[in-house]
Amino acid sequence: MTASFINNIDLTDFKTLLLLYLMLFAIILFRYALLSGSYYYVFHVVFKKKYADRMLATKMPTAKQIKREVRLSVYSTFVFGLVGVALLVLWQNGYTKIYMNPTDYPLWYFPISILIFMVLHDTYYYWIHKWMHEYKWLRRYHLDHHKSVNTTVLTSFSFHPVESFFQAIILPILFTIVPLNIFAILIILLLMTFSAIINHAGVEVYPSNSLFRGFRKYVIGATHHDIHHRHVQKNFGLYFTFWDRLMKTEY
Ligand SMILES: [Zn+2]
Ligand SMILES: [Zn+2]
Repeated sequence: MTASFINNIDLTDFKTLLLLYLMLFAIILFRYALLSGSYYYVFHVVFKKKYADRMLATKMPTAKQIKREVRLSVYSTFVFGLVGVALLVLWQNGYTKIYMNPTDYPLWYFPISILIFMVLHDTYYYWIHKWMHEYKWLRRYHLDHHKSVNTTVLTSFSFHPVESFFQAIILPILFTIVPLNIFAILIILLLMTFSAIINHAGVEVYPSNSLFRGFRKYVIGATHHDIHHRHVQKNFGLYFTFWDRLMKTEY
C-alpha cells in the first residue's frame, strides 16, 4: 500500500510546511503536558500515600526549577517539531522504510521491529550521553538537564535545544534503516515519552517483588536514572541497562 496520506500533502509549499510544523508543535506539547500531568496526578496526588516510601526526591523542586523545566521543555518541543517535519519530507520522498500496511511484513516482525528500534536508540543514546559527560564542548549543552538534581515529570523534556537536536535527529535516521509500520512508530513515540516521564518523575513505580526482579535488572526505571542525576558518571542508559553493564558504568 502506498503511503497515500503522506503523498497527499504538498510539502514543497512553505505555508503547508509552516502549518504542519505548528500542528506538530502543538500535538507534541499537548501530549507531553497531558502525559506528564496525568503521571504526576496519579503518583504524587492520588496514590501519594501508597508511594510515600518510594519517592526519590530529597527536596521539593523550587519554583525556579519548574520554570526552567517548562521553558526548556517548550524549546525542546520547537526542535522536536522541526525534526518531525524533516521526517515527513524524507518519508514523502521515499527515503524512509516506513510502511503503512501491517501485512507488508510478517506480523511477528511488528513487535520485533519496535524492539530493534529501541535497542538501536538505546545504543545511540548511551554513547551520545556518555560523550556529553566526557567532552567539554558537548557537556555545556547537557548541563541544563543536570541542573535538575531532584527531577520532576517536567525534567523529561528539559534539555538545551542543541541536546534536543542530538536526541531527536537519530529518529529520522533510524526510520531510514529499520522498516517500521506507522503504528509501530506511534507506539515507539509513546513509549519514548512515557519512559522519559517514568525515569524523571521522582517516584519508583516498578514493583520490587521477585516477579519484576529480571525486568528491573534490564529495564531502566526511575531509581536507575535518578542515580544518574546524583552521580553523574554512572547510569547513562536510556531504556536498557546492558550498555551500562558492559561498560561498567552502572552504579
Ligand atoms: Zn547526563
Ligand atoms: Zn535525566
